[in-house]
Amino acid sequence: MAWNSGWLAGMFIVKPELSPEALQNQLGFARRSYFSRMVGLALGFVMTSAVFIQNTAPAWMWVGPALHCFVGPHVAWWVARRANHPRDAERRNLLVDHFLGGVWMVLMQFNLLPSVLTLSLLSMDTMAGGGVRLVARGLALQVLGLVLGVGLLGLHIQPDASLWTVLACLPLLVCQPILISHIARKAIHRLKQQSLVLKHQSQHDGLSGLYNRTHWEQLVRAEFARFRRQRDPAVLVMADLDHFKRINDLHGHAAGDQAICRFADALSRVLRETDVCGRYGGEEFGVLLPMTSAAAARDVLDRLRRDLHDQQLLDGALVTASFGVAELTADVPNVEAWLRLADQMLYRAKHRGRDCVVVLGDDAATQPDALAPMPVRTSYSTPAALTDPLRVAQLLAGLDIGEAPFALFDPSDRLAVANPAFIRLYAVQSDTVSFADIVRYSHAQQVGPRITTDDIEAWLRAADGKRRSQPQRHFEVDMVDGRCFHLVETSYSDGWLMVLLFEIQAVGATVLV
Ligand code: GH3
Ligand code: MG
Ligand code: MG
Repeated sequence: MAWNSGWLAGMFIVKPELSPEALQNQLGFARRSYFSRMVGLALGFVMTSAVFIQNTAPAWMWVGPALHCFVGPHVAWWVARRANHPRDAERRNLLVDHFLGGVWMVLMQFNLLPSVLTLSLLSMDTMAGGGVRLVARGLALQVLGLVLGVGLLGLHIQPDASLWTVLACLPLLVCQPILISHIARKAIHRLKQQSLVLKHQSQHDGLSGLYNRTHWEQLVRAEFARFRRQRDPAVLVMADLDHFKRINDLHGHAAGDQAICRFADALSRVLRETDVCGRYGGEEFGVLLPMTSAAAARDVLDRLRRDLHDQQLLDGALVTASFGVAELTADVPNVEAWLRLADQMLYRAKHRGRDCVVVLGDDAATQPDALAPMPVRTSYSTPAALTDPLRVAQLLAGLDIGEAPFALFDPSDRLAVANPAFIRLYAVQSDTVSFADIVRYSHAQQVGPRITTDDIEAWLRAADGKRRSQPQRHFEVDMVDGRCFHLVETSYSDGWLMVLLFEIQAVGATVLV
Protein backbone atom coordinates (compact mmCIF):
# COMPACT_ATOMS: atom_id res chain seq x y z
CA MET A 1 0.00 0.00 0.00
CA ALA A 2 1.49 3.36 -1.00
CA TRP A 3 2.29 5.54 1.99
CA ASN A 4 0.33 8.52 0.78
CA SER A 5 -2.76 6.73 -0.43
CA GLY A 6 -3.58 4.17 2.25
CA TRP A 7 -5.65 4.50 5.36
CA LEU A 8 -2.57 4.62 7.56
CA ALA A 9 -1.39 7.60 5.58
CA GLY A 10 -4.83 9.18 6.15
CA MET A 11 -4.17 8.93 9.87
CA PHE A 12 -0.69 10.34 9.90
CA ILE A 13 -0.68 12.95 7.17
CA VAL A 14 -0.71 16.42 8.70
CA LYS A 15 -3.92 18.06 7.52
CA PRO A 16 -4.41 21.82 7.40
CA GLU A 17 -5.99 23.34 10.48
CA LEU A 18 -9.78 23.48 10.47
CA SER A 19 -11.75 26.70 10.47
CA PRO A 20 -13.51 27.30 13.84
CA GLU A 21 -16.83 26.51 12.17
CA ALA A 22 -15.60 23.19 10.73
CA LEU A 23 -13.99 22.31 14.07
CA GLN A 24 -17.30 22.86 15.88
CA ASN A 25 -19.02 20.74 13.27
CA GLN A 26 -16.58 17.85 13.77
CA LEU A 27 -16.76 18.16 17.55
CA GLY A 28 -20.54 17.83 17.24
CA PHE A 29 -20.01 14.52 15.45
CA ALA A 30 -17.62 13.30 18.20
CA ARG A 31 -20.07 14.43 20.90
CA ARG A 32 -22.92 12.46 19.36
CA SER A 33 -20.65 9.40 19.08
CA TYR A 34 -19.67 9.85 22.77
CA PHE A 35 -23.29 9.61 23.85
CA SER A 36 -24.04 6.64 21.61
CA ARG A 37 -20.83 4.85 22.72
CA MET A 38 -21.70 5.32 26.42
CA VAL A 39 -25.17 3.82 25.97
CA GLY A 40 -24.07 1.07 23.56
CA LEU A 41 -21.11 -0.10 25.68
CA ALA A 42 -23.12 0.00 28.92
CA LEU A 43 -25.74 -2.28 27.34
CA GLY A 44 -22.90 -4.34 25.83
CA PHE A 45 -21.53 -4.85 29.33
CA VAL A 46 -24.90 -6.27 30.44
CA MET A 47 -24.72 -8.74 27.55
CA THR A 48 -21.06 -9.70 28.20
CA SER A 49 -21.76 -10.13 31.92
CA ALA A 50 -24.54 -12.61 31.15
CA VAL A 51 -22.15 -14.66 29.00
CA PHE A 52 -19.43 -14.52 31.70
CA ILE A 53 -21.95 -15.72 34.29
CA GLN A 54 -23.11 -18.48 31.95
CA ASN A 55 -19.45 -19.53 31.39
CA THR A 56 -18.43 -18.91 35.05
CA ALA A 57 -15.56 -16.77 33.79
CA PRO A 58 -12.77 -15.91 36.27
CA ALA A 59 -12.90 -12.47 37.95
CA TRP A 60 -9.88 -11.01 36.06
CA MET A 61 -11.74 -11.50 32.79
CA TRP A 62 -14.29 -8.85 33.82
CA VAL A 63 -11.68 -6.14 34.18
CA GLY A 64 -11.02 -5.53 30.48
CA PRO A 65 -14.67 -5.27 29.36
CA ALA A 66 -15.52 -3.14 32.41
CA LEU A 67 -12.75 -0.68 31.59
CA HIS A 68 -13.70 -0.59 27.92
CA CYS A 69 -17.39 -0.14 28.64
CA PHE A 70 -17.25 2.46 31.42
CA VAL A 71 -13.94 4.26 30.98
CA GLY A 72 -13.51 3.82 27.20
CA PRO A 73 -16.25 6.30 26.10
CA HIS A 74 -14.75 9.10 28.23
CA VAL A 75 -11.22 8.43 26.97
CA ALA A 76 -12.50 8.39 23.37
CA TRP A 77 -14.28 11.72 23.88
CA TRP A 78 -11.22 13.21 25.57
CA VAL A 79 -9.03 12.12 22.63
CA ALA A 80 -11.47 13.48 20.05
CA ARG A 81 -11.86 16.79 21.89
CA ARG A 82 -8.11 17.38 21.97
CA ALA A 83 -7.58 16.40 18.33
CA ASN A 84 -7.08 18.96 15.56
CA HIS A 85 -9.46 16.89 13.46
CA PRO A 86 -12.04 15.38 15.85
CA ARG A 87 -13.77 13.43 13.07
CA ASP A 88 -10.56 11.54 12.23
CA ALA A 89 -9.94 10.92 15.94
CA GLU A 90 -13.47 9.59 16.34
CA ARG A 91 -12.98 7.25 13.38
CA ARG A 92 -9.83 5.92 15.05
CA ASN A 93 -11.89 5.39 18.21
CA LEU A 94 -14.35 3.32 16.19
CA LEU A 95 -11.48 1.18 14.89
CA VAL A 96 -10.27 0.62 18.47
CA ASP A 97 -13.82 -0.50 19.38
CA HIS A 98 -13.69 -3.01 16.54
CA PHE A 99 -10.33 -4.35 17.67
CA LEU A 100 -11.53 -4.79 21.25
CA GLY A 101 -14.80 -6.29 19.95
CA GLY A 102 -12.67 -9.07 18.40
CA VAL A 103 -10.99 -9.72 21.75
CA TRP A 104 -14.38 -9.79 23.58
CA MET A 105 -15.67 -12.40 21.14
CA VAL A 106 -12.80 -14.66 22.26
CA LEU A 107 -13.53 -13.86 25.93
CA MET A 108 -17.19 -14.73 25.33
CA GLN A 109 -16.01 -18.05 23.80
CA PHE A 110 -17.84 -17.20 20.54
CA ASN A 111 -21.25 -17.35 22.20
CA LEU A 112 -23.26 -17.04 19.02
CA LEU A 113 -25.87 -14.35 19.68
CA PRO A 114 -23.60 -11.94 21.61
CA SER A 115 -20.79 -12.43 19.05
CA VAL A 116 -23.05 -11.74 16.09
CA LEU A 117 -24.49 -8.71 17.91
CA THR A 118 -20.99 -7.38 18.66
CA LEU A 119 -20.05 -7.76 15.02
CA SER A 120 -23.20 -6.26 13.51
CA LEU A 121 -23.73 -3.35 15.93
CA LEU A 122 -20.09 -2.28 15.75
CA SER A 123 -20.30 -2.41 11.95
CA MET A 124 -23.52 -0.38 12.03
CA ASP A 125 -21.82 2.28 14.17
CA THR A 126 -18.80 2.38 11.89
CA MET A 127 -20.90 2.50 8.75
CA ALA A 128 -22.75 5.55 10.11
CA GLY A 129 -19.47 7.20 11.13
CA GLY A 130 -17.28 6.50 8.10
CA GLY A 131 -18.89 4.37 5.39
CA VAL A 132 -17.93 1.08 3.77
CA ARG A 133 -14.18 1.66 3.74
CA LEU A 134 -14.10 2.30 7.48
CA VAL A 135 -16.25 -0.80 8.08
CA ALA A 136 -13.77 -2.86 6.05
CA ARG A 137 -10.88 -1.53 8.13
CA GLY A 138 -12.87 -2.13 11.31
CA LEU A 139 -13.60 -5.74 10.37
CA ALA A 140 -9.91 -6.30 9.57
CA LEU A 141 -8.99 -4.99 13.03
CA GLN A 142 -11.70 -7.09 14.62
CA VAL A 143 -10.16 -10.19 13.05
CA LEU A 144 -6.78 -9.02 14.36
CA GLY A 145 -8.25 -8.68 17.88
CA LEU A 146 -9.76 -12.10 17.50
CA VAL A 147 -6.46 -13.69 16.46
CA LEU A 148 -4.62 -11.94 19.29
CA GLY A 149 -7.27 -13.10 21.79
CA VAL A 150 -7.06 -16.69 20.59
CA GLY A 151 -3.25 -16.48 20.71
CA LEU A 152 -3.32 -15.29 24.34
CA LEU A 153 -6.25 -17.28 25.72
CA GLY A 154 -6.50 -20.26 23.40
CA LEU A 155 -9.50 -21.26 21.28
CA HIS A 156 -12.60 -22.09 23.36
CA ILE A 157 -15.93 -22.30 21.57
CA GLN A 158 -19.27 -22.28 23.44
CA PRO A 159 -21.88 -21.07 20.93
CA ASP A 160 -25.04 -21.90 22.95
CA ALA A 161 -26.72 -19.01 24.68
CA SER A 162 -28.73 -19.55 27.88
CA LEU A 163 -32.14 -17.87 28.24
CA TRP A 164 -30.54 -15.28 30.57
CA THR A 165 -27.89 -14.51 27.98
CA VAL A 166 -30.56 -14.09 25.29
CA LEU A 167 -32.55 -11.78 27.60
CA ALA A 168 -29.40 -9.79 28.41
CA CYS A 169 -28.83 -9.25 24.69
CA LEU A 170 -32.28 -7.74 24.14
CA PRO A 171 -31.69 -4.20 25.51
CA LEU A 172 -28.66 -3.79 23.24
CA LEU A 173 -30.50 -5.38 20.31
CA VAL A 174 -33.44 -2.99 20.70
CA CYS A 175 -31.80 0.25 21.80
CA GLN A 176 -28.63 0.49 19.75
CA PRO A 177 -30.25 0.43 16.27
CA ILE A 178 -32.80 3.03 17.44
CA LEU A 179 -30.01 5.23 18.75
CA ILE A 180 -27.96 4.92 15.58
CA SER A 181 -30.97 5.64 13.36
CA HIS A 182 -31.79 8.68 15.48
CA ILE A 183 -28.26 9.99 15.14
CA ALA A 184 -28.24 9.30 11.38
CA ARG A 185 -31.59 11.07 10.99
CA LYS A 186 -30.30 14.13 12.84
CA ALA A 187 -27.19 14.12 10.66
CA ILE A 188 -29.32 13.99 7.50
CA HIS A 189 -31.46 16.85 8.79
CA ARG A 190 -28.38 18.94 9.56
CA LEU A 191 -26.97 18.14 6.13
CA LYS A 192 -30.19 19.29 4.51
CA GLN A 193 -30.05 22.54 6.46
CA GLN A 194 -26.43 23.06 5.43
CA SER A 195 -27.18 22.38 1.79
CA LEU A 196 -30.05 24.90 1.96
CA VAL A 197 -27.68 27.51 3.38
CA LEU A 198 -25.09 26.70 0.70
CA LYS A 199 -27.72 26.89 -2.02
CA HIS A 200 -28.86 30.28 -0.73
CA GLN A 201 -25.28 31.53 -0.63
CA SER A 202 -24.60 30.33 -4.17
CA GLN A 203 -27.68 32.12 -5.53
CA HIS A 204 -27.67 35.40 -3.59
CA ASP A 205 -25.52 38.47 -3.38
CA GLY A 206 -23.95 38.90 0.03
CA LEU A 207 -24.42 42.67 0.29
CA SER A 208 -27.92 43.31 -1.03
CA GLY A 209 -29.49 39.90 -0.41
CA LEU A 210 -30.85 39.93 -3.98
CA TYR A 211 -30.12 37.16 -6.46
CA ASN A 212 -26.58 37.24 -7.78
CA ARG A 213 -25.97 37.79 -11.46
CA THR A 214 -25.47 34.11 -12.38
CA HIS A 215 -28.69 32.97 -10.78
CA TRP A 216 -30.68 35.96 -11.94
CA GLU A 217 -29.61 35.32 -15.53
CA GLN A 218 -30.70 31.68 -15.16
CA LEU A 219 -34.16 32.89 -14.11
CA VAL A 220 -34.26 35.28 -17.06
CA ARG A 221 -33.37 32.36 -19.35
CA ALA A 222 -36.21 30.32 -17.86
CA GLU A 223 -38.63 33.20 -18.45
CA PHE A 224 -37.39 33.55 -22.01
CA ALA A 225 -38.03 29.83 -22.63
CA ARG A 226 -41.52 30.17 -21.13
CA PHE A 227 -42.21 33.06 -23.47
CA ARG A 228 -41.19 30.89 -26.41
CA ARG A 229 -43.76 28.27 -25.33
CA GLN A 230 -46.64 30.36 -24.02
CA ARG A 231 -46.06 33.94 -25.22
CA ASP A 232 -46.68 35.31 -21.73
CA PRO A 233 -45.62 38.95 -21.62
CA ALA A 234 -42.43 39.76 -19.74
CA VAL A 235 -40.33 42.85 -19.22
CA LEU A 236 -36.66 43.21 -18.44
CA VAL A 237 -35.38 46.21 -16.54
CA MET A 238 -31.79 47.28 -16.07
CA ALA A 239 -31.29 49.83 -13.31
CA ASP A 240 -28.19 51.76 -12.33
CA LEU A 241 -27.69 54.17 -9.45
CA ASP A 242 -26.81 57.64 -10.67
CA HIS A 243 -23.46 59.29 -10.07
CA PHE A 244 -22.48 56.56 -7.67
CA LYS A 245 -18.79 57.26 -7.90
CA ARG A 246 -19.55 60.72 -6.55
CA ILE A 247 -21.63 59.19 -3.73
CA ASN A 248 -18.66 57.01 -2.74
CA ASP A 249 -16.25 59.92 -2.97
CA LEU A 250 -18.40 62.29 -0.93
CA HIS A 251 -19.87 59.95 1.67
CA GLY A 252 -17.48 57.00 1.77
CA HIS A 253 -17.64 53.43 0.56
CA ALA A 254 -19.64 52.23 3.58
CA ALA A 255 -22.35 54.79 2.83
CA GLY A 256 -22.29 53.57 -0.79
CA ASP A 257 -22.82 50.02 0.42
CA GLN A 258 -25.70 51.20 2.58
CA ALA A 259 -27.30 52.91 -0.43
CA ILE A 260 -27.03 49.65 -2.40
CA CYS A 261 -28.78 47.75 0.41
CA ARG A 262 -31.50 50.37 0.72
CA PHE A 263 -32.05 50.30 -3.02
CA ALA A 264 -32.53 46.52 -2.77
CA ASP A 265 -35.06 47.17 0.02
CA ALA A 266 -36.86 49.70 -2.15
CA LEU A 267 -37.09 47.12 -4.95
CA SER A 268 -38.67 44.60 -2.58
CA ARG A 269 -41.02 47.27 -1.21
CA VAL A 270 -42.33 48.46 -4.54
CA LEU A 271 -42.22 45.36 -6.73
CA ARG A 272 -44.42 42.27 -6.57
CA GLU A 273 -43.23 39.05 -4.98
CA THR A 274 -43.21 37.39 -8.37
CA ASP A 275 -40.83 39.99 -9.79
CA VAL A 276 -37.25 38.76 -9.88
CA CYS A 277 -34.56 41.18 -8.74
CA GLY A 278 -30.83 40.59 -9.03
CA ARG A 279 -27.66 42.53 -8.42
CA TYR A 280 -26.06 42.59 -11.82
CA GLY A 281 -22.78 43.96 -10.54
CA GLY A 282 -21.58 47.06 -8.65
CA GLU A 283 -24.51 49.47 -8.44
CA GLU A 284 -26.31 47.94 -11.39
CA PHE A 285 -29.42 45.82 -10.93
CA GLY A 286 -31.59 43.65 -13.15
CA VAL A 287 -35.31 43.15 -12.65
CA LEU A 288 -37.48 40.66 -14.45
CA LEU A 289 -41.18 41.45 -14.42
CA PRO A 290 -43.13 38.40 -15.57
CA MET A 291 -46.70 38.80 -16.87
CA THR A 292 -46.16 42.55 -17.21
CA SER A 293 -46.48 44.90 -20.16
CA ALA A 294 -43.99 47.69 -20.85
CA ALA A 295 -46.61 50.31 -19.90
CA ALA A 296 -47.26 48.63 -16.55
CA ALA A 297 -43.50 48.37 -15.98
CA ARG A 298 -43.16 52.10 -16.58
CA ASP A 299 -45.82 52.80 -13.92
CA VAL A 300 -44.09 50.55 -11.40
CA LEU A 301 -40.70 52.09 -12.06
CA ASP A 302 -42.04 55.62 -11.82
CA ARG A 303 -43.44 54.61 -8.45
CA LEU A 304 -40.01 53.27 -7.52
CA ARG A 305 -38.38 56.52 -8.63
CA ARG A 306 -40.77 58.47 -6.42
CA ASP A 307 -40.03 56.09 -3.57
CA LEU A 308 -36.30 56.82 -3.95
CA HIS A 309 -37.08 60.52 -3.65
CA ASP A 310 -39.28 60.03 -0.58
CA GLN A 311 -37.24 57.43 1.33
CA GLN A 312 -33.73 58.62 0.67
CA LEU A 313 -31.12 55.93 0.17
CA LEU A 314 -28.63 58.04 2.10
CA ASP A 315 -29.40 60.31 5.02
CA GLY A 316 -29.10 63.85 3.78
CA ALA A 317 -28.36 62.97 0.16
CA LEU A 318 -30.63 62.14 -2.73
CA VAL A 319 -29.54 59.05 -4.64
CA THR A 320 -31.49 58.47 -7.81
CA ALA A 321 -31.51 55.65 -10.34
CA SER A 322 -31.99 55.32 -14.07
CA PHE A 323 -33.95 52.51 -15.67
CA GLY A 324 -33.92 50.88 -19.10
CA VAL A 325 -36.94 48.76 -20.00
CA ALA A 326 -37.31 46.19 -22.79
CA GLU A 327 -40.48 44.17 -23.27
CA LEU A 328 -39.93 40.72 -24.72
CA THR A 329 -41.24 40.39 -28.27
CA ALA A 330 -41.13 37.57 -30.79
CA ASP A 331 -38.30 39.18 -32.75
CA VAL A 332 -35.86 39.15 -29.80
CA PRO A 333 -33.69 36.21 -30.82
CA ASN A 334 -32.11 35.28 -27.48
CA VAL A 335 -31.59 36.29 -23.88
CA GLU A 336 -28.37 38.13 -24.68
CA ALA A 337 -30.22 40.35 -27.17
CA TRP A 338 -32.96 41.00 -24.62
CA LEU A 339 -30.42 42.01 -22.00
CA ARG A 340 -28.65 44.20 -24.55
CA LEU A 341 -31.88 45.99 -25.42
CA ALA A 342 -32.63 46.75 -21.77
CA ASP A 343 -29.04 47.91 -21.37
CA GLN A 344 -29.32 50.20 -24.38
CA MET A 345 -32.42 51.74 -22.87
CA LEU A 346 -30.54 52.25 -19.61
CA TYR A 347 -27.79 53.94 -21.56
CA ARG A 348 -30.36 56.26 -23.07
CA ALA A 349 -31.82 57.00 -19.66
CA LYS A 350 -28.36 58.09 -18.54
CA HIS A 351 -28.00 60.14 -21.66
CA ARG A 352 -31.31 61.86 -21.03
CA GLY A 353 -30.11 63.22 -17.75
CA ARG A 354 -30.62 60.23 -15.38
CA ASP A 355 -33.38 59.69 -12.78
CA CYS A 356 -35.73 58.55 -15.52
CA VAL A 357 -37.24 55.50 -17.19
CA VAL A 358 -36.68 54.75 -20.87
CA VAL A 359 -38.88 52.11 -22.44
CA LEU A 360 -37.94 50.38 -25.69
CA GLY A 361 -40.23 51.56 -28.47
CA ASP A 362 -41.35 54.77 -26.76
CA ASP A 363 -40.93 57.97 -28.70
CA ALA A 364 -38.19 60.15 -27.24
CA ALA A 365 -40.52 63.15 -27.06
CA THR A 366 -42.91 61.39 -24.69
CA GLN A 367 -40.20 60.85 -22.10
CA PRO A 368 -40.56 63.03 -19.03
CA ASP A 369 -36.83 63.68 -18.91
CA ALA A 370 -36.15 63.79 -22.62
CA LEU A 371 -33.35 65.83 -24.16
CA ALA A 372 -33.90 69.54 -24.25
CA PRO A 373 -36.35 70.08 -27.14
CA MET A 374 -35.02 71.30 -30.44
CA PRO A 375 -36.07 74.86 -31.31
CA VAL A 376 -39.63 74.79 -32.60
CA ARG A 377 -39.79 76.03 -36.17
CA THR A 378 -42.71 75.87 -38.51
CA SER A 379 -40.62 75.73 -41.67
CA TYR A 380 -36.99 75.47 -42.74
CA SER A 381 -35.67 76.98 -45.93
CA THR A 382 -32.62 75.29 -47.47
CA PRO A 383 -29.53 77.07 -46.10
CA ALA A 384 -27.19 78.65 -48.60
CA ALA A 385 -24.45 76.24 -47.53
CA LEU A 386 -26.39 73.33 -48.94
CA THR A 387 -26.74 74.90 -52.38
CA ASP A 388 -23.00 75.43 -52.80
CA PRO A 389 -21.21 72.17 -53.80
CA LEU A 390 -17.90 73.30 -52.25
CA ARG A 391 -19.53 74.06 -48.93
CA VAL A 392 -21.38 70.78 -49.00
CA ALA A 393 -18.05 68.98 -49.56
CA GLN A 394 -16.53 70.88 -46.61
CA LEU A 395 -19.52 70.06 -44.45
CA LEU A 396 -19.27 66.38 -45.36
CA ALA A 397 -15.54 66.32 -44.58
CA GLY A 398 -16.25 67.89 -41.19
CA LEU A 399 -18.98 65.39 -40.45
CA ASP A 400 -16.72 62.51 -41.46
CA ILE A 401 -14.23 63.43 -38.76
CA GLY A 402 -16.99 62.83 -36.23
CA GLU A 403 -18.16 59.71 -38.11
CA ALA A 404 -21.60 61.34 -38.32
CA PRO A 405 -23.68 59.84 -41.13
CA PHE A 406 -25.24 62.52 -43.29
CA ALA A 407 -27.46 62.47 -46.43
CA LEU A 408 -29.53 64.84 -48.53
CA PHE A 409 -32.58 63.75 -50.50
CA ASP A 410 -34.00 65.91 -53.29
CA PRO A 411 -37.69 66.90 -53.57
CA SER A 412 -38.47 63.67 -55.44
CA ASP A 413 -36.88 61.71 -52.57
CA ARG A 414 -33.77 60.69 -54.55
CA LEU A 415 -30.46 60.49 -52.74
CA ALA A 416 -28.47 63.56 -53.79
CA VAL A 417 -25.54 63.54 -51.36
CA ALA A 418 -24.33 61.06 -48.72
CA ASN A 419 -21.08 60.86 -46.82
CA PRO A 420 -19.14 57.55 -46.37
CA ALA A 421 -20.41 57.12 -42.80
CA PHE A 422 -24.00 57.16 -44.08
CA ILE A 423 -23.16 54.82 -46.97
CA ARG A 424 -21.53 52.37 -44.55
CA LEU A 425 -24.28 52.56 -41.96
CA TYR A 426 -27.09 51.85 -44.44
CA ALA A 427 -24.98 49.76 -46.87
CA VAL A 428 -26.07 52.15 -49.64
CA GLN A 429 -25.61 50.65 -53.12
CA SER A 430 -24.41 52.66 -56.13
CA ASP A 431 -27.71 52.11 -57.98
CA THR A 432 -29.81 53.21 -55.01
CA VAL A 433 -32.06 56.12 -55.83
CA SER A 434 -34.64 56.69 -53.13
CA PHE A 435 -34.82 56.63 -49.35
CA ALA A 436 -37.25 53.69 -49.67
CA ASP A 437 -34.70 51.73 -51.74
CA ILE A 438 -32.03 52.31 -49.13
CA VAL A 439 -34.22 51.06 -46.31
CA ARG A 440 -35.51 48.07 -48.30
CA TYR A 441 -31.96 47.00 -49.11
CA SER A 442 -30.52 47.50 -45.64
CA HIS A 443 -33.48 45.66 -44.11
CA ALA A 444 -32.98 42.73 -46.50
CA GLN A 445 -29.24 42.64 -45.68
CA GLN A 446 -29.86 42.90 -41.92
CA VAL A 447 -27.81 46.10 -41.56
CA GLY A 448 -28.83 49.66 -40.66
CA PRO A 449 -31.86 50.37 -38.48
CA ARG A 450 -33.47 47.58 -36.49
CA ILE A 451 -36.93 47.33 -38.06
CA THR A 452 -39.09 44.97 -36.07
CA THR A 453 -41.79 44.37 -38.66
CA ASP A 454 -41.69 42.12 -41.69
CA ASP A 455 -44.05 44.42 -43.59
CA ILE A 456 -41.38 46.83 -44.77
CA GLU A 457 -43.74 48.63 -47.18
CA ALA A 458 -46.14 49.50 -44.35
CA TRP A 459 -43.16 50.69 -42.29
CA LEU A 460 -41.98 52.93 -45.16
CA ARG A 461 -45.46 54.42 -45.61
CA ALA A 462 -45.66 55.20 -41.88
CA ALA A 463 -42.13 56.72 -41.90
CA ASP A 464 -43.01 58.86 -44.92
CA GLY A 465 -46.18 60.13 -43.29
CA LYS A 466 -44.32 61.05 -40.09
CA ARG A 467 -41.53 62.80 -42.01
CA ARG A 468 -43.96 65.07 -43.80
CA SER A 469 -45.95 65.82 -40.65
CA GLN A 470 -43.41 68.26 -39.21
CA PRO A 471 -40.45 70.26 -40.47
CA GLN A 472 -37.98 68.68 -38.11
CA ARG A 473 -38.02 65.43 -36.22
CA HIS A 474 -35.41 64.03 -33.92
CA PHE A 475 -35.48 60.60 -32.40
CA GLU A 476 -33.31 57.66 -31.50
CA VAL A 477 -32.72 54.71 -33.78
CA ASP A 478 -31.42 51.31 -32.74
CA MET A 479 -29.19 49.69 -35.28
CA VAL A 480 -29.06 45.98 -36.03
CA ASP A 481 -25.44 45.91 -34.80
CA GLY A 482 -26.52 47.14 -31.36
CA ARG A 483 -25.42 50.77 -31.73
CA CYS A 484 -27.83 53.58 -31.08
CA PHE A 485 -28.02 56.83 -33.04
CA HIS A 486 -29.76 60.13 -32.56
CA LEU A 487 -31.36 61.02 -35.89
CA VAL A 488 -32.27 64.54 -37.01
CA GLU A 489 -34.50 64.74 -40.05
CA THR A 490 -35.15 68.19 -41.53
CA SER A 491 -37.71 68.77 -44.31
CA TYR A 492 -36.96 72.02 -46.10
CA SER A 493 -39.71 74.16 -47.57
CA ASP A 494 -38.44 73.51 -51.10
CA GLY A 495 -38.87 69.75 -50.67
CA TRP A 496 -35.28 68.78 -49.82
CA LEU A 497 -34.71 66.46 -46.89
CA MET A 498 -31.60 66.32 -44.74
CA VAL A 499 -30.80 63.30 -42.57
CA LEU A 500 -28.09 63.57 -39.94
CA LEU A 501 -27.23 60.92 -37.38
CA PHE A 502 -24.79 60.81 -34.56
CA GLU A 503 -23.97 57.91 -32.35
CA ILE A 504 -25.20 58.52 -28.85
CA GLN A 505 -21.83 57.88 -27.17
CA ALA A 506 -20.31 60.60 -29.31
CA VAL A 507 -22.88 63.23 -28.41
CA GLY A 508 -20.42 65.54 -26.70
CA ALA A 509 -18.03 65.49 -29.63
CA THR A 510 -20.43 66.06 -32.49
CA VAL A 511 -21.32 69.49 -33.75
CA LEU A 512 -25.00 69.65 -34.48
CA VAL A 513 -26.32 71.98 -37.22
P1 GH3 B 1 -23.68 56.92 -13.73
O1 GH3 B 1 -24.73 57.82 -13.22
O2 GH3 B 1 -23.29 57.21 -15.13
O3 GH3 B 1 -23.99 55.49 -13.54
O4 GH3 B 1 -22.39 57.27 -12.87
P2 GH3 B 1 -21.65 56.37 -11.85
O5 GH3 B 1 -20.76 57.25 -11.05
O6 GH3 B 1 -22.62 55.55 -11.08
O7 GH3 B 1 -20.79 55.52 -12.84
P3 GH3 B 1 -20.34 54.04 -12.82
O8 GH3 B 1 -21.50 53.14 -12.99
O9 GH3 B 1 -19.27 53.92 -13.85
O10 GH3 B 1 -19.67 53.86 -11.40
C1 GH3 B 1 -20.05 52.92 -10.52
C2 GH3 B 1 -19.29 53.09 -9.25
O11 GH3 B 1 -19.91 52.32 -8.25
C3 GH3 B 1 -17.87 52.61 -9.36
C4 GH3 B 1 -17.60 51.92 -8.05
O12 GH3 B 1 -16.69 52.68 -7.31
C5 GH3 B 1 -18.93 51.94 -7.32
N1 GH3 B 1 -19.27 50.63 -6.80
C6 GH3 B 1 -19.38 49.48 -7.48
N2 GH3 B 1 -19.71 48.46 -6.64
C7 GH3 B 1 -19.80 48.98 -5.39
C8 GH3 B 1 -20.08 48.45 -4.10
O13 GH3 B 1 -20.35 47.25 -3.91
N3 GH3 B 1 -20.09 49.30 -3.06
C9 GH3 B 1 -19.82 50.61 -3.23
N4 GH3 B 1 -19.83 51.42 -2.15
N5 GH3 B 1 -19.51 51.16 -4.42
C10 GH3 B 1 -19.51 50.36 -5.50
MG1 MG C 1 -24.03 54.31 -11.87
MG1 MG D 1 -22.74 51.41 -13.18
